[in-house]
Amino acid sequence: MDELNPFKISQAQLDAAAEIMNLDKTVHMILREPMRTVEMKIPVKMRDNSTELFTGFRVLYNNARGPGKGGIRFHPQENIDTVKALSAWMTWKTALANLPLGGAKGGVICDTKKMDEHEIENLSRGYIRSFGNLLGPKTDIPAPDVYTTPQIMAWMDDEYSKIAGNNEFGMITGKPLELWGSEGRFDSTALGGMYVLRDLAKKAGIDLKNAKIAIQGFGNAGNFAFSLVKKMFGSKIVAISDSKGGVYNPDGLDYAGLQKAKQQSGTVSDYEGAEKISNEQLIESDADIIIPAALENQITQANADKVKAKIVLELANGPVTPEADKILFERGIYGAPDFLVNSGGVIVSYFEWVQNISGYYWTEDDVYAKLDTIMSKSFADVVKTQEEYAAKGKKINMRTAAYIIAVQRVSAAMKARGWY
Ligand code: GLU
Repeated sequence: MDELNPFKISQAQLDAAAEIMNLDKTVHMILREPMRTVEMKIPVKMRDNSTELFTGFRVLYNNARGPGKGGIRFHPQENIDTVKALSAWMTWKTALANLPLGGAKGGVICDTKKMDEHEIENLSRGYIRSFGNLLGPKTDIPAPDVYTTPQIMAWMDDEYSKIAGNNEFGMITGKPLELWGSEGRFDSTALGGMYVLRDLAKKAGIDLKNAKIAIQGFGNAGNFAFSLVKKMFGSKIVAISDSKGGVYNPDGLDYAGLQKAKQQSGTVSDYEGAEKISNEQLIESDADIIIPAALENQITQANADKVKAKIVLELANGPVTPEADKILFERGIYGAPDFLVNSGGVIVSYFEWVQNISGYYWTEDDVYAKLDTIMSKSFADVVKTQEEYAAKGKKINMRTAAYIIAVQRVSAAMKARGWY
């Protein structure tokens, strides 16, 4: 199972880039480990007046380029290694987008599906009571992720502000608009991914209007990806899934039907008029593009040779293992890496933070235009790096190219600070 340990995977990805770019050994050593790892127990009053003890984490991976930045996940399978890996990926993500931020991540082991709203609120406030003194607009700034929402960000901001004794809107992003969240933040992760898809499809010679797409996940990322793919490119979505399973129809699926199924039975797999499939089958489905938009380790050594798509667009964090990466690359499949594809979320989080600390608010059009500029630049930088290495006789995939750019930027900041 070690090959599926996300932290080991993040280190292996870094090692691969370090070797190709001839990275200084000391820098490599520093960048392989998080700078701060904290685990805390969070006592939470439940509805029946009992107290449950939750385990929470917050990891600050690297802050050489700016305050730590990254979401908080609420997930039953959360553990320190997933949080460490996710905090590393945040470091590369903010560096690739050239934001003045570092990388961090948090998580709580919990099953929100078994908790009511009041209990989720208590847990969210409890998280801030435990971890609040590590967080702040100049130190470490959380955001939403798997099973956390704008409402949860609002509770966390309120708790933090109460403890601080003043409103501190810039301490967390992904807040509702009423609490000075940013226009355009809600679908920014998916939208940023669409900008990458637009540029990559052009490079790969794929006509998106006639493309068939499969999306794994129907949460913060997958749900919006579904609508945006249709709206922006008119592509056909032939498969979708959530944690309970999925559906496939070669003639396409419609959003209203999926919403109805999700509302009625809690899963898109009860959508009417399509074949039921598993999450594993979705990865192997007959589609030109697959968009993993759920959790890590979905494409592994075991199924990478069964992928039929020409593009794998990683909207989730860590969906492809290093072994699978190699197989996809050798097969000529375009693997668009997570920390490029899903960086739209943290880019608009950065915009939100800028707006919060300056107290001046932008329009949705401003946000989308600035997001497109940054995403297009990141994509172009990755392609340019691939070409530069190809000219030196080294064929590298998009992930390694993205790592090289990010690692160079973080290393340069550490050098300037005198860390090595
Ligand atoms: N959780 C998102 C991610 O993995 C967003 C992080 C943020 O906005 O800080 O990129």
